[in-house]
Amino acid sequence: MGNKELEALRAQIDDINEQLLMLIGKRGLISQEIAKAKDMQGLPKFDPVREREMLDKLAAMNEGPFDEATIRHLFKQLFKASLDLQQSDKKKHLLVSRKKQAEDTIVTSKGVSVGGGAHLMVAGPCSVESYEQTRAVGAALKAAGVKVMRGGAFKPRTSPYDFQGLGIDGLKILKEVADEFGLVTISEIVNPAHIEIAQQYIDVIQIGARNMQNFELLKAAGEATIPVLLKRGIAATMDEFLLAAEYIVSRGNGQVMLIERGIRTYEKWTRNTLDISAVPILKQESHLPVLVDVSHSTGRKDIMLPCAKAALAAGADGIMIETHPDPATALSDADQQLTLEQFDSFYAQLKASGLFREA
Ligand code: PEP
Ligand code: MN
Repeated sequence: MGNKELEALRAQIDDINEQLLMLIGKRGLISQEIAKAKDMQGLPKFDPVREREMLDKLAAMNEGPFDEATIRHLFKQLFKASLDLQQSDKKKHLLVSRKKQAEDTIVTSKGVSVGGGAHLMVAGPCSVESYEQTRAVGAALKAAGVKVMRGGAFKPRTSPYDFQGLGIDGLKILKEVADEFGLVTISEIVNPAHIEIAQQYIDVIQIGARNMQNFELLKAAGEATIPVLLKRGIAATMDEFLLAAEYIVSRGNGQVMLIERGIRTYEKWTRNTLDISAVPILKQESHLPVLVDVSHSTGRKDIMLPCAKAALAAGADGIMIETHPDPATALSDADQQLTLEQFDSFYAQLKASGLFREA
């Protein structure tokens, strides 16, 4: 075959490609019309019976040279593309997505805000252990100018023999201290049935890493009238993390903060592996504020400051860190909690770095 013949055949292929493109586009437009009609009638977009009929009909009509399986495969791809086109905006763009909302969500509690430029420091003990311990932290935070105190009352411990937290009594202690010092409080809730009562005592519900995919808890948090701090699961992908947040937002509670707290990898020199790349990815993909927990991610006091700086440099809206009046005697996470003095120094250095912008 000479060059001329080859060129002529290629010209025919180009021509057919153009016709196919035009027909595919036309098919897409009709498919969108069908989607509208289905929406009006409340019918589902995917109709497997209709799809089976179309594939069978095409296979029966096929005269080659492509075999039946190839024809089925090619048309299946076309059907799939049309279905994607038909899927509702809701399914394509999550409520938590930047594509759905371009501007940053600002989460506010008792006049304290995060998101849209203002940075937030969240500090406090791993666990609420007593009124005296919690009050000592509250007083130190107040003196340091920190407005949000964390403290676990329901502790998701690996061993059932370890301190499980003070439960509702712990939440009551948080409230007493918060009222005295004018602080906003965050505490983990592990049981959907506790969401309602928790709102009487705390200002922000934390959903812990181990519960990131506790869907009933997420749904209950979505019904809450106070903000939610959602921790990334121990081995959660970005998709899973964002879909977990979507559970809350889709139930009506848009006041959600995401927090990267390290993921489990083979590395043993840190408690978990701080996935700093999660910060710019989440900021790009979602309008929700993104925080970084430098305590549970690193588990090492000696690198918390540079990790906090890295988090802010990567675009994080806030930092969470654990601090305790006497870490050596702490009932949980004794090794990673800063003394109140160490916290003061940490916070002062972070502010001095110029990376932390106070609200
Ligand atoms: C916590 O912040 O108290 C906690 C238990 O963290 P995580 O859920 O990230 O392990
Ligand atoms: Mn802890």
